[in-house]
Amino acid sequence: MARKIGSRYTAHQVIGRGSAGTVWLGEGPEGPVAIKLLREDLASDQVLVGRFVQERTALTSLDHPRVVGVHDLVVDGDDLALVMELVHGTDLRSRLDREGPLTPQAAVSVAADVAEGLAVAHAAGIVHRDVKPENILLDQASSPGPGGAPRAKLSDFGIARLVDAPRRTRATRIIGTPDYLAPEVIEGLEPRAAVDIYALATVLYELLAGFTPFGGGHTGAVLRRHVTESVAPLPGLPEDLWRVIAQCLAKAPASRLRATELAARLREQLPSLTGQPVLRVSHPDSSGARVSDYDDGYDPHGPDDADDLDDLGHVSTRQRIARRRGPAVPLVPGAQPDSSRDTHTSLRRPNREELAAFAEASRQERAAREAAAARPGSTHRRPGARRSGAGSNVRRRRRLLVGVLALLVAAGALGAYKAFAGDGGGTAGSPGSGPSGSPSASASSTDQADELEKVQVAGLTRMHSPAGIPVGVPLV
Ligand code: ADP
Ligand code: MG
Repeated sequence: MARKIGSRYTAHQVIGRGSAGTVWLGEGPEGPVAIKLLREDLASDQVLVGRFVQERTALTSLDHPRVVGVHDLVVDGDDLALVMELVHGTDLRSRLDREGPLTPQAAVSVAADVAEGLAVAHAAGIVHRDVKPENILLDQASSPGPGGAPRAKLSDFGIARLVDAPRRTRATRIIGTPDYLAPEVIEGLEPRAAVDIYALATVLYELLAGFTPFGGGHTGAVLRRHVTESVAPLPGLPEDLWRVIAQCLAKAPASRLRATELAARLREQLPSLTGQPVLRVSHPDSSGARVSDYDDGYDPHGPDDADDLDDLGHVSTRQRIARRRGPAVPLVPGAQPDSSRDTHTSLRRPNREELAAFAEASRQERAAREAAAARPGSTHRRPGARRSGAGSNVRRRRRLLVGVLALLVAAGALGAYKAFAGDGGGTAGSPGSGPSGSPSASASSTDQADELEKVQVAGLTRMHSPAGIPVGVPLV
């Protein structure tokens, strides 16, 4: 049944459903169009509608053969509709579901098309934010690309940003698959163009392997893998092509290629991929067989170990997962560390040898400190003197107590002396009266005498530690 959308368009039949709404085959003054009707709860959100209207120009500005053009935005009663170029064909997700992985040449050709679409958008300051096979349409009306690859177009530019903005409530936010999410987004950074590159590299990997590099299992596990895991090379893939993919899957956004570079690098690869069959990569087991991050699943025998190949000679899940983890997580093979974008992903656990070396170094350092402190006249602190907190407070209190007792004894002795020998000189708390003859001990005695004096001047009848904590020593 036909449905009027504004005064210019008619929607005839549903041709697709997505997370944000329903896509209709429609008709406009210039011919057939695709009309995306946003979900009712989204269309009735005035803030969201306002945002779409505000962004109308940006939404309709992209005009490129590798981008699904948006012709118009219609706000009509309860309807919010995007009128788009109609693409004759299917989306990449349906194609993957139906036919499985593509040949390397077709996969690279599709990815290069998408990279070109991204390049024009990024040059216009637009980040897609939701690159995934569902948003890549295969245009069957255009003549095929290298190796018979369908020509691809990227759709839904800017929609994710508008629909999934922070002001929306959790209930209405669209939370798509986490498989294509760049690590910096997971870590809360503002998505920039590099997130699209990461997502596209994930799509390319999926087109080649049949599964995404970090997908599978619980959402939390997928997110964690994006941030912490490195990806193993796909067996049978030319090294140059793998390097391009790995660089675009780098954890640090700045290490990834720009869209224009990526498109060029992918196109360079196309001739050498002619005739290459679909890769045979076994699917990872998402039923809990993953090796824990903290297990050392690394297999020193490499992928050729017979145990690691299944009946068909595919690299087994165990090996694939094991090879994903080494003792270190290389962000980008061969790339310089990117200190300005350091995240915890650039940290790694020290291995056994390194730990042993750390322990030995700290043992030597301690021994040197002790030797220096033992030398006569040394001003070095005694071992452990640097400890802070409750322990050091207790020690200070003890020293104070000893000092006070020494003073009391001295005062008593002075009193007795006065009683027996009449008035005379004498000083309490001489340097030698501390608990130890060491310079540091006498210095602390002097400090304690000062402290005691201050307390007495204040007319207090209780001794206080320097920190003001009553220590319960009554003064005479
Ligand atoms: P999602 O929100 O999951 O990205 P969409 O709402 O964008 O999904 O699209 C749903 C489906 O509708 C797509 O997978 C595709 O098959 C179809 N579709 C979307 N846009 C167009 C278009 N411009 N031309 C033809 N089909 C389209
Ligand atoms: Mg879409």
